[in-house]
Amino acid sequence: MKSKSSEPDNKYCKKCSAICCKNLAVEINRPRNKFEVENLKWQLHFDTVKVYLHNRKWHQLVEGTCIYLSKDDRCTIYETRPDKCREHNPPECEFFGKYYDIMFNNPQELTDYLKSKKSKKRNL
Ligand code: SF4
Ligand code: SF4
Repeated sequence: MKSKSSEPDNKYCKKCSAICCKNLAVEINRPRNKFEVENLKWQLHFDTVKVYLHNRKWHQLVEGTCIYLSKDDRCTIYETRPDKCREHNPPECEFFGKYYDIMFNNPQELTDYLKSKKSKKRNL
């Protein structure tokens, strides 16, 4: 995902193994209809893709390492790193624990979650 400096100013980044540069997380819209649910389920067929909910917001996570991260976990373009990287800072980051409330690792987990939401609504 985002920031990790070649010379990080932040004491937490110095201790961290650049967790945020090893996954790409992007906020996405909540799936609103059958087509959008099927589309999300299709994306979850790929073992590098996950979907998660955090504070009721939906995110897509793509596993993989930023091409600008060095072998020793330093950003090689620190001075010109993207704004998204600059905006991502402790303590609002993965170093401080669980960054998701619910993680969907495959299509079935998403299906089960949506089914349980539906049946809870029905029982209200
Ligand atoms: S550009 Fe640098 S800070 Fe941003 S994700 Fe890549 S290595 Fe991390
Ligand atoms: S996960 Fe947090 S502590 Fe670790 S490098 Fe990224 S911003 Fe710094």
